[in-house]
Amino acid sequence: MLWSQQSLFGDPGWDLTHINDLAALEEKVKTCRRCGLRSGCRGVVFGEGNPRAKLVLCGEGPGEDEDRLGRPFVGRAGQLLDKILAACGFERFTHVYILNAVKCRPPGNRIPTEEERAACRPNLEAQLRILRPRIIVLLGATALQVLLDPRGRISRDRGRWVERDGVWYMPTYHPAALLRNPNLKREAWEDFKQVVAKYRELIDPGHVAPYC
Ligand code: SF4
Repeated sequence: MLWSQQSLFGDPGWDLTHINDLAALEEKVKTCRRCGLRSGCRGVVFGEGNPRAKLVLCGEGPGEDEDRLGRPFVGRAGQLLDKILAACGFERFTHVYILNAVKCRPPGNRIPTEEERAACRPNLEAQLRILRPRIIVLLGATALQVLLDPRGRISRDRGRWVERDGVWYMPTYHPAALLRNPNLKREAWEDFKQVVAKYRELIDPGHVAPYC
């Protein structure tokens, strides 16, 4: 599994394998300084949602609003994500857990480097090991590349399920991309309709969604 018990990086000073509680993991990750991003932001944005949710959404990294408030997806892109989730019958503190591939804001919202992604990966792996999701929605290329395919391209790979070790991955556009290019919203909605169908298949056959 991607989030195996063994850290991929052999960093004995950053062993998270003994932590099996999400709150304890959050306390630990908030002390992380494994890459340079931490020195340029206000704090670690760990993630939020229902810790027992079996549907996880993974984005890229915190933006300005997320860094200021210490919460994921709370700016304009987050508001759009909440609308999409509502159309799917999902609420962020009930049905899902939302996190990012890197936990600290990259300066100017640039894409996290390979080194920063690698440094934060044990934190992400530990989160997913504890959450044990059945479905992971990959919001944008960084999430796709970190969790599924280092060479992944969202325009090519979106909308198609990939199953690994019992976890179903759906790559789709990051909500920020939908704000930049509203023409992509139709495809993104098709992807989320598939997520609702998979949620009914794997998690809750009686799930009610207003628009699908
Ligand atoms: S981005 Fe991740 S690895 Fe880098 S300091 Fe923040 S929590 Fe640690």
